[in-house]
Amino acid sequence: MHYLVTGGAGYVGSHTVRALLQHGHTATILDNFSTGHRWATQGQVVLDVDLRNPSALRDALRGLEIDGIFHFAAKSLVGESAKTPVTYYQNNVTGTANLLEVALENGWHRVVFSSTAAIYGNPLTDRITENHPKVPINVYGQTKLTVENMLKATCEASPMAAVSLRYFNAAGAAEDASLGEVHDPETHLIPTALKAASGAGQPLTIFGDDYPTPDGTCVRDYIHVQDLADAHLRAMNALEQQRLEGPQFDAFNLGNGVGFSVKEVFAACEDIVGQSIPYRLGQRREGDPARLVADASRAREELGWQPRHSEIEMIVATAWAWEQKHRSA
Ligand code: UDP
Repeated sequence: MHYLVTGGAGYVGSHTVRALLQHGHTATILDNFSTGHRWATQGQVVLDVDLRNPSALRDALRGLEIDGIFHFAAKSLVGESAKTPVTYYQNNVTGTANLLEVALENGWHRVVFSSTAAIYGNPLTDRITENHPKVPINVYGQTKLTVENMLKATCEASPMAAVSLRYFNAAGAAEDASLGEVHDPETHLIPTALKAASGAGQPLTIFGDDYPTPDGTCVRDYIHVQDLADAHLRAMNALEQQRLEGPQFDAFNLGNGVGFSVKEVFAACEDIVGQSIPYRLGQRREGDPARLVADASRAREELGWQPRHSEIEMIVATAWAWEQKHRSA
């Protein structure tokens, strides 16, 4: 099969391209390289296009033969989204509207969408299921929820069929350290801690230790990026087999179902690195719920998905191997 992968030069997108190649498929990567990397495109056809530009998008995609779309391209930082909401709505919502319009024009009717646990807001239950109320508390989550609503409506009004995958905290790197996470600036917990460990970054700031959690720091469900990539292939396969429940749209949580606090993740980083890592305590970061942990049973049951890299130490170890390789490159 040949797939269009928007944001395929980014973190989860590039790992999904890698998984597609491993399964004998190929990809056309569409990316504006605002945060993506050329080195992550793995020899695939690259379209350097911004989704906010509908005519450029239409021109670039004209005549392509596409079996399905994996849609990753988006702005994805909670903190940044509070400061530049218009940019977030333009990239994530308008960009997706343009993509769907061109997809429908071309008769491309399968979409796997990169969504997020941020659409739920503050959880009312210990583990979040897909039907949990959706009241995002940050702009990033608002934009992703708006896109889910747009996708669902589009699926009801057209032959389009879509699966939305709601990631909890994507983390780790390819096991062979051939791909991994590189953001500039880096803001995510594990790479920031590991950068501090390698001496390449500032000490880690722990964003708040006064949350209503056992050690006062935020609890998150960290899920390995290769497990996320695998779920994308399964979701596309489900669309191809037309074996999803409901008419045309479905959504699945992707997480391990186990929560780790910032302090616990930090301790795992120190363990893997084998030394203490400099850190300081800071203020809470705007838009951070205290706890986000998935109930991902539906993905297991309906997609046959089984995370294979569930241990936090294993997740951190792959990120550390990548950090060392990337720094020395
Ligand atoms: N975090 C932190 N210091 C950092 C980066 C993140 O304390 O330098 C915390 C953040 O407040 C959140 C958790 O680590 O509770 C995971 O944040 P990250 O940015 O990695 O992912 P997000 O939850 O925003 O997707």
